[in-house]
Amino acid sequence: PYDVLVVGGGPAGSSAAIYAARKGIRTGIVAERFGGQVLDTMSIENFITVKETEGPKLVASLEEHVKEYNIDVMNLQKATKIAKNDLFELELENGATLKSKSVIISTGARWRNVNVPGEQEFKNKGVAYCAHCDGPLFEGKDVAVIGGGNSGIEAAIDLAGIVKHVTVLEFNDTLKADEVLQQRAYSLPNVTIITNAQTTEITGDDNVNGITYVERDTNEEKHIALQGVFVQIGLVPNTEFLADVVERTPMGEIIVDKHGQTNVPGLFAAGDCADTAYKQIIVSMGSGATASLGAFDYLIRN
Ligand code: FAD
Repeated sequence: PYDVLVVGGGPAGSSAAIYAARKGIRTGIVAERFGGQVLDTMSIENFITVKETEGPKLVASLEEHVKEYNIDVMNLQKATKIAKNDLFELELENGATLKSKSVIISTGARWRNVNVPGEQEFKNKGVAYCAHCDGPLFEGKDVAVIGGGNSGIEAAIDLAGIVKHVTVLEFNDTLKADEVLQQRAYSLPNVTIITNAQTTEITGDDNVNGITYVERDTNEEKHIALQGVFVQIGLVPNTEFLADVVERTPMGEIIVDKHGQTNVPGLFAAGDCADTAYKQIIVSMGSGATASLGAFDYLIRN
């Protein structure tokens, strides 16, 4: 069996595996797609010590670093079930079962798509999902934020300090964001909030050039010319396969303590799939290191 089996090969999982292997213990990584969300990212400017890079380049460095160590990398393998008997048993989609004394879940998350024409076509060409990451690329431009929950209104406030103008489009007739965030957003001169607005298309040529929505009360179609669209309608953790083996929040995030341990002894979680604050590459690498050191502590006590 493995000492530490890491499920997920993004920044959190890679960091966890390297920390484990450096303890000289038997370590494996199972990843549906090594690299995770970073593979889908164009420009990265907030990974400290690297002024600017691209997702696939950062993934190549991750892979190179992981390969420096004695780590079994099982790429293109999807975990479908986990159980704890004497050991943890992880079932894969291909029918195999892997056994381990401890497991670190780092299966990340996915942004919920609005599924309108233009969204896929203009991803990384004006369609963005992370204001912390991509906000500065839209300096001085006009942008829209789709979604009026906490993440949408936080993004609008954040972007208002960088871009020329932000239009928030909320489907429902009221915003779901906390009152204090709403007040702040309404007080900003360069933020317009439109409720009851159903986004129907993101338009563009080479890059985004506008957004079309329907006023749900009048059924009238409107178009706004702009250069960026931030989709903020939820981040969904990839934790469905855990079912009720481990405690999760109502949103599906795995609940962890400050050592990255879940309510199940020996089962740890890190990165975007856990209920840790802020979903960023640098944050997920830190939490991967924490979970791995937590797992090592667990192993030497059991
Ligand atoms: P992920 O990167 O999501 O990796 C999850 C891993 O788990 C993958 O290998 C996946 O294949 C695997 N997996 C999932 N389910 C299973 C399963 N059942 N079995 C086996 N493997 C599984 N952050 C920044 O700091 N700066 C940026 O500029 C930035 N830009 C971004 C741009 C975009 C378009 C996106 C989508 C995200 C961006 N982020 C950015 C956020 C950042 O990518 C994430 O916070 C980070 O990748 C989270 O790392 P993770 O390892 O927790 O999860």
